Amino acid sequence: MPTKLPAAQARMYHNVFVCKHCKTKIRAESRKILEGKIRCRKCLHKAFRPVRRK
Ligand SMILES: [Zn+2]
Repeated sequence: MPTKLPAAQARMYHNVFVCKHCKTKIRAESRKILEGKIRCRKCLHKAFRPVRRK
């Protein structure tokens, strides 16, 4: 169940990405994700998707 407060949701999901490989959540600027500067701290993969889905 998502939080009803928009501010809380923004804080929880803004700039948060999920590793496509091991599903670890990473907080980083989307620009850095796109530039490939962020690697998953667990599996070191560089494939991420935004955490916000619905
Ligand atoms: Zn990973």
